[in-house]
Amino acid sequence: MTIEERYQKLEETIREYNPSANFDLIRAAFTYAAIAHEGQLRKDGSPYVSHPLAVAQIVAEELHLDSESIAAALLHDTIEDTGATHEEVSRRFSPTIADLVEGVSKLNRVQYTSKAEEQMENLRKMLLAMSKDIRVILVKVADRLHNMRTMQFQTPDKQKKKSFETMEIYAPIAHRLGMQRIKWELEDLSLKYLDPIGYEEITSVLDAKAKEYQGFMKEVHQQITRRLNEGGIHGYVYGRLKHPYSIYRKMFAQNKAINEIFDLIAFRVIVYSLPDCYNVLGVVHDLYKPVLGRFKDYIGTPKPNMYQSLHTTVIGEGGTPFEVQIRTQEMHEIAEYGIAAHWKYKQGGKGSGDEQSYEWVRRLLENQEGTDAEEFIHSLKVDMFADEVFVFTPMGDVINLPSGATPIDFAYSIHSAVGNHMVAVKINGRIAQFDSRLENGDIVEVITSQSAHGPSRDWTKIARSSEARSKIRQWFKRERREENIVTGRASFESELKRNGVSLKDLTGDDVLPGVLKKLCYNSLDDMYAAIGYGGVTSLKLIGRLREDIQRIQQAHRQAEQAAKEEPVVPKPTVHPKSWSEHGVVVEGLSNCLVKFAKCCTPVPGDPIEGFITRGYGVSVHRADCPNAAPSRRSPDEHGRWIRVSWSDQIKETYRTTIHVIAKDRVNLVMDISAVLASTKTRLMMMNARSTADNFALIQLEVEVGGGDQLQGLIRKLEQISGVMTVKRPAG
Ligand code: MN
Repeated sequence: MTIEERYQKLEETIREYNPSANFDLIRAAFTYAAIAHEGQLRKDGSPYVSHPLAVAQIVAEELHLDSESIAAALLHDTIEDTGATHEEVSRRFSPTIADLVEGVSKLNRVQYTSKAEEQMENLRKMLLAMSKDIRVILVKVADRLHNMRTMQFQTPDKQKKKSFETMEIYAPIAHRLGMQRIKWELEDLSLKYLDPIGYEEITSVLDAKAKEYQGFMKEVHQQITRRLNEGGIHGYVYGRLKHPYSIYRKMFAQNKAINEIFDLIAFRVIVYSLPDCYNVLGVVHDLYKPVLGRFKDYIGTPKPNMYQSLHTTVIGEGGTPFEVQIRTQEMHEIAEYGIAAHWKYKQGGKGSGDEQSYEWVRRLLENQEGTDAEEFIHSLKVDMFADEVFVFTPMGDVINLPSGATPIDFAYSIHSAVGNHMVAVKINGRIAQFDSRLENGDIVEVITSQSAHGPSRDWTKIARSSEARSKIRQWFKRERREENIVTGRASFESELKRNGVSLKDLTGDDVLPGVLKKLCYNSLDDMYAAIGYGGVTSLKLIGRLREDIQRIQQAHRQAEQAAKEEPVVPKPTVHPKSWSEHGVVVEGLSNCLVKFAKCCTPVPGDPIEGFITRGYGVSVHRADCPNAAPSRRSPDEHGRWIRVSWSDQIKETYRTTIHVIAKDRVNLVMDISAVLASTKTRLMMMNARSTADNFALIQLEVEVGGGDQLQGLIRKLEQISGVMTVKRPAG
């Protein structure tokens, strides 16, 4: 095929799923790429533009993506390999397309030097986090798929290196995004270069078996199809031999030869309604003897990547076992194309017809209210790794830090000695400030010196990770005890003074032992040192002595009164300065961070208590949360519990968790999602699983405006047929 013919085929492919695509834009991108890559050849001697064209073909054919993604696929190597710039692509096409192209180029520059397993997971997360727009990673996966398909023209060295990367990074990403077909192809292609002998052995056996099993598979196909027709079930049946890599992995894991692998054949039945999945299961178990313990209901309990299906293994004629997977058309598309299938729906929602069939996907997976495709994809990404940042050491190891982390966090995450001896830092080869914000993919190099003075006190404010902060405090605690005692004492004394009490009042021989016991310190110096290095604040300690201080204040007043011999009007109680964030007022603490506890997820109206965490502000628990129960409070933690209350000023929405226990039945999950929709409740997460004795345990994470909406929701959930209890978990 000539290049132009291949381009025509691309347009045809797009027209099939998206007749209203922007073909002017796509043609312009193709022409621009052809001119930009003019004169460059691929390893097989073909003009270079055949590569971006093939990548665009994959993006269209396998993922059914939008016009901008197709254009970006056509242009994906222009900024990297030709004179084109972000500015020019942005001007000629659009800023979004330029960002997509640059995003793909950025991923190309990530180094894969490390081989440790936990490093691989960090690298995968880093790639996803760097793909600010999910389309970047989709184009990148398509790029890698075409490179793997044409790997035979590369040197053996490069074949091995790229195949390793593909197996460890890109196939798992394809899996995580739910793109099973692409994942399998990537794995099979990688295996071919990583273990050519093993691959050859499996494929030759599979080829032979294909002939041997041909008749058997045809017969099973006919038997199932006939029964579907008789039962009036619409659907289609499809049989195949399993993929080489899935067999390879089984041989490896179970230490078996290929002849010992139990089931090489898999059938798939695709139907058009959820109840039919269970009808087909009945048909299959009626036709063939099921193998005990091999039935799995991933419809009731979807896998984390949203995969849904029924799996069973049965024994056919002659004792040949085979697996059967049963799912609806929608489940099938999501299984094969994952994220791209959801996204395709979002695009279709703008005009084209079959909104209805994806309705349940939307209910469960997406924010219900009118987000457009861009926003949906953005929020999806943010949800994935918004709170993490991934950077490299000069050796190529990936270090995972909280987002907003600085070189100080980086240094202490390597080792406290590295942090304590840090004198300078380089980010991507250039000297940088200690408070610079690290970005995904940065290479960070810490310069240390044995004569370093140690951390500065400001560092605890600059550091984002509690690990770094506590290591810095440790250093001050150890190295600077004398100094800490002096600063700690000064701080404690001035805080007391603000309360009208002198240090002498609290440290008299009769009072001191009780005070120290209450504060859990062995000596005053220990307490001053703790304040000095930042382990605790004077304010907090004095808060624990409220009763003693009130007693002393009272005594002072009585003394004054006696001296003046005149009646004193009792002063109205002065409320401590309070401050509200997220609609919560924290007593006695101003300007502190407020978080809602994950264990009991309070909403306005609930009685609440606050816990001062180490480094992350005040965590708000429901008063009935076991974590907040006074009996559970250890003496160490006691002083960290403080009074909090709801302010009048309520934050817009609150996240909370609800547990539903019900008799398991078909459509239960759909009824729950209907209640969520009717009460206008945003669903953030749903996790359903069924127990052996036929109960369904469903965990919902929802966003509500407050207690009233939540109570309404709970009442409606309780009314659903089969639902036994609806609870808000605590602890
Ligand atoms: Mn490429």
